[in-house]
Amino acid sequence: MKLPPSTIILKPGNSEQNETGSWRSLKPVVDAEKCNGCGLCWLYCPEPAITKGKPVVIDYRYCKGCGICANECPVKAIVMVEEGQK
Ligand code: SF4
Ligand code: SF4
Repeated sequence: MKLPPSTIILKPGNSEQNETGSWRSLKPVVDAEKCNGCGLCWLYCPEPAITKGKPVVIDYRYCKGCGICANECPVKAIVMVEEGQK
């Protein structure tokens, strides 16, 4: 099977070069009222997709929709929705 270039990690630390947003079928949406800026989602996100803040900001060019951020958020400020819904 021939893989598209963005799925091949040739060297560590190059995630900013790979825009993995096209992999996404579910999209994280942040509730700005609930987010307390703790940064746990930023810590656990496997891509350079989250910028710390209150609320955090998600860069959908890099977000692959894995849902880790929503799972780890202690106050449930992130929900995963189907692409195209929000
Ligand atoms: S884990 Fe939740 S509360 Fe903490 S910064 Fe991320 S979205 Fe905000
Ligand atoms: S779903 Fe959340 S943890 Fe996963 S890549 Fe997107 S922002 Fe990062």
